[in-house]
Amino acid sequence: MLVNGKEILIEAKRQNKAIFHFNINNLEWTKYILLECNKLNISVILGVSESAVNYMGGYNTVVNLVKGLIKDLDIKINVILHLDHGKSFESCKNAIDAGFTSVMIDGSLKELEENIRITKQVVEYAHMKEVTVEAELGAMGELKDDQVSFGKLTNVSDCLEFVNKTKIDSLAASVGTVHGKYTKELNIDYNLIKDIADSIDIPLVLHGGSGLSNDILKKCVLSGITKINVNSDLQDAWSKGVRKFLEENKSVIDPRKIILSGINNLTKEIDNKININN
Ligand SMILES: [Zn+2]
Repeated sequence: MLVNGKEILIEAKRQNKAIFHFNINNLEWTKYILLECNKLNISVILGVSESAVNYMGGYNTVVNLVKGLIKDLDIKINVILHLDHGKSFESCKNAIDAGFTSVMIDGSLKELEENIRITKQVVEYAHMKEVTVEAELGAMGELKDDQVSFGKLTNVSDCLEFVNKTKIDSLAASVGTVHGKYTKELNIDYNLIKDIADSIDIPLVLHGGSGLSNDILKKCVLSGITKINVNSDLQDAWSKGVRKFLEENKSVIDPRKIILSGINNLTKEIDNKININN
């Protein structure tokens, strides 16, 4: 069932469990992420970036793809269809109008006042349609050409002001993780996670959940993280499978066989990640 995830995240926060957000790219990823999570009987957040929306054709295509798969594959779990890093009010509105059940407005690169203004505008529209809103404060570390530029960590008083003024449903705070698959050691500020989680009453989101061991992810959850975003680890797992298959099967031309050759790795990575809840 397609839901907005509000209750699911609040309940997970109460139980100190993680809800996973996996980014989707096409029909096959969507189908097999849904099937795997359904098999595991866990709620899942399907994250779609603006560029993935464009890649797949547009907001309506994504909504209808997800709804069609839920129906045709008889998916019983709760599915949250979430716009990842919405850059503007317009893109959030387009996602909501098409049927997304959750959106992220990312105004983190703007000044606090402007971030509050644009986030509030999205919340007012989204809540009218029972869609939940995630927003971001501070700047995430970014990985480019194997070099990382570390962002500015969030502070607790900004978080309090931001959450009170915007009425968002979940907060992505910058606590030391990096977008992309960064495998060197990170200085994740667990005390900061704890302080923010203790001072606001909405679920906290960890971006850049790839490249982190399950022990680290678990520590983040025990410190107060509820939603974990995973993108690069799935891409890495899938592409390794495809690369190996193509090297070993030089004459295969069937695109279905090629795309599916990475899917086993992808579903194994999902199984691996969700272990942190056990
Ligand atoms: Zn992110």
